[in-house]
Amino acid sequence: MTEPAWVERWSYNVAALATLPTPEAPGRPACMTTPVPTWRRVYRQRVPRRRPHGCCWYHGGDWHHVNATAIRLVHKAKTLGATGEDIGDHALDSAVAAGITGWDLDALASLLVIEPIRIDSDDDPASQWYDNGRHRIIAMLDAGVRHTILVRVELLDSTTGLPPRH
Ligand SMILES: [Zn+2]
Repeated sequence: MTEPAWVERWSYNVAALATLPTPEAPGRPACMTTPVPTWRRVYRQRVPRRRPHGCCWYHGGDWHHVNATAIRLVHKAKTLGATGEDIGDHALDSAVAAGITGWDLDALASLLVIEPIRIDSDDDPASQWYDNGRHRIIAMLDAGVRHTILVRVELLDSTTGLPPRH
């Protein structure tokens, strides 16, 4: 009997930062050695911070602008018929065509194509962890960003197109 072959199904979804788990502190860079405190998460949603800080790349730009752009371009890509992983490529192409450069383009590329932010969970819904994106989520929480794009990757049986049975 042959093992089933799996194919990945990617989806790009808007997520509210207020609903996401607080990432564990990665310990590096120096500005990320302690978890984002709850008061700061709440306070920064009311008093957003847009000005870049020079401490690290993650705090080095305006995540408000980047996320608003990412959400708009993902929506546009879906409207134009893109599906799966192509949504990210399509949205990034649109960003380049719109003349976005520098930190903003790097940040968009990270969210859309290179290392999309992913959260995984096991059967316990309270148990969630970041596959990718802890540093960026911390910087977004520090800035008071409200919405970002998360990618979900499901594995499907290549013959049936169905998710694996538990
Ligand atoms: Zn920093």
